[in-house]
Amino acid sequence: MLELKTLESDETNLRLLVTGVDTPYINAIRRIVLTEVPCMAIDEVVIIENSSVLHDEIIAHRLGLIPIKTDLDGYNLPEECSCRSEFGCNLCRVTFTLDREAKDEPVTVYSGDLVSENPNIAPVSDKIPIVKLGRGQKLKLEAYARLGRGKNHAKWQPVSLSAHKHLPKIRIDAEKCNACGKCVETCPRKVLAKSKGKVEVVDLYACTMCRDCVDACPEEPSAIEVNWEKNAFIFILESTGALPPERIITEAVKILDRQLKEFTDQIAEVQKA
Ligand code: SF4
Ligand code: SF4
Ligand SMILES: [Zn+2]
Repeated sequence: MLELKTLESDETNLRLLVTGVDTPYINAIRRIVLTEVPCMAIDEVVIIENSSVLHDEIIAHRLGLIPIKTDLDGYNLPEECSCRSEFGCNLCRVTFTLDREAKDEPVTVYSGDLVSENPNIAPVSDKIPIVKLGRGQKLKLEAYARLGRGKNHAKWQPVSLSAHKHLPKIRIDAEKCNACGKCVETCPRKVLAKSKGKVEVVDLYACTMCRDCVDACPEEPSAIEVNWEKNAFIFILESTGALPPERIITEAVKILDRQLKEFTDQIAEVQKA
């Protein structure tokens, strides 16, 4: 039976222990997070004036990579919006403006200089540098953000990390172990500790299963064994800040559900024909 346990959760990170599933199941969720869960990103830029040292295209590219706080309930994907317009409408597009000039002193233009028509759709951080303007240089533009999917461009990935690993399984044979502590000294992740003449596992989730501890053990065969649980995984998700991590994972599950439903509907159609 599927069981979930939260190991870590904050505004941008989520670490879950998922048991009772197999690799294709957890991998499907990981890949849908990366490729299918939509988020907002700047997709079109109209440069009105640019006398900076960077070309228009480089500035547009830098703007596209700024993570933008996303409202999935208030906006439509452009291809699903009822406006059917290539330019978009206020349900599928958010307009930003930027107007900076360096008069007497050089200035750095930051993501925080972008002014959004909707204050809820704004850069995740206002400290991302876009370009440095020398004295007398100017940057004036309009930029349009839209929802999109990571499979079309990495700027639409709502995460900087979506990964899973098997839950490690470490067994120390008390009969064979002479408590020399070599495995404790070798472990790069401080998974093991020696206390009261015994070696113990103190941070199982940190283990990368590198097996350095097994190689370091002087006993033959080694008194420490490292394996992994077949149906238990640690799932790690790190949001760019575009969406809360819980929302990203629930959207991924909804998308997988929808894809499976489409599949069964089409099977039914094929059988009818
Ligand atoms: S397998 Fe690597 S990370 Fe895990 S306990 Fe051994 S040395 Fe440490
Ligand atoms: S290296 Fe081997 S013998 Fe030494 S403490 Fe670790 S498990 Fe025990
Ligand atoms: Zn629209």
